[in-house]
Amino acid sequence: MTERERQRRARAIKKRRQRQIRQRVTIAVIAIAVFLVVVVSVAAHQRKKKEAQNQPQQETSRNIPAVQETSSGTQNPETETAAPEVSEIPLEQTEVPEETAPEAQAENTLRAADYPVDRSNFAVQPGVPCGNNHMTEEKVVYLTLDDGPSYLTPQFLDVLDHYNVKCTFFVTAQDPEYFYLIREAYDRGHTIGLHSYSHDYATVYSSPEAFFADLDAIGQVVADQIGYVPAFIRFPGGSCNYVSHDYCEGIMTYLSTAVQERGYQYFDWNCSSGDGAVVDDVNQLIAAATSVDYWENIVLLSHDCGGKETTLAALPSIIEYYLNNGYEFRPITRDAFTSHQEIFN
Ligand SMILES: [Zn+2]
Repeated sequence: MTERERQRRARAIKKRRQRQIRQRVTIAVIAIAVFLVVVVSVAAHQRKKKEAQNQPQQETSRNIPAVQETSSGTQNPETETAAPEVSEIPLEQTEVPEETAPEAQAENTLRAADYPVDRSNFAVQPGVPCGNNHMTEEKVVYLTLDDGPSYLTPQFLDVLDHYNVKCTFFVTAQDPEYFYLIREAYDRGHTIGLHSYSHDYATVYSSPEAFFADLDAIGQVVADQIGYVPAFIRFPGGSCNYVSHDYCEGIMTYLSTAVQERGYQYFDWNCSSGDGAVVDDVNQLIAAATSVDYWENIVLLSHDCGGKETTLAALPSIIEYYLNNGYEFRPITRDAFTSHQEIFN
């Protein structure tokens, strides 16, 4: 092999190696490019997938505080007593999960059924018996609201309307500017009963004559509103009150039969929300008002007079409790349970 041939072969070998190196570099560049494309597209896909998963979670987490806000709002007396809004609260607080709430609302499962009431015999009539002092087997709550009407009565009526619940107002004459609400309550299906004109124990229980003068006075107020004097009454302090003993010994024993001889019937209670005193704790009222659910017939004492904002706040939960436990709310009628208590004076 000549020198020239050797040099040519060496150049050829060199060229071939350079070509091989270029080919490998090209392949490597293509491989890297392909790898990068794959990596980028996989990352994009995963990002999209993650976004898709996050969407419903954010929706849910937005909903949860909304539900909590509503329910905590109903437990907060201050929120509840923000008066004009109270009647709106029970609608939202039915503890149904957010998605099923519209259906549940449509069904109105927590609304009481209409109870047919014949009110043609409600007027006081001597000789016509009224009231039943024995419990029936039906689960019935006779909700009674005493000492109104007051500036709070319209809101009580709205809550009662919301649940289609009828009750009984034992009225006084403490706020003459709200007498028109006696008619309003009656027109909205509630029973009106007589409580007291003055609600002053010293006056009312000073003598039987004084008692009947006071009863006649509130009877006239009611007759002016609804057209007749109702047969249903509630003694100030109930028939079991001790306070009357300070003014007239034995007066409750006497009155308990005297009122019936005149055609009236008195209604006591077997359950109290405890709101006769000042109670700031709404939950305490709810607990007391639902404490005797082992009885079939419950006559529940509460008040709708001024200052009973906490009673108003507690009312939706009390109503819902009884509706959920199979009770029916009824207004007092001539055959209602009287729940007479023991008389001590
Ligand atoms: Zn009273």
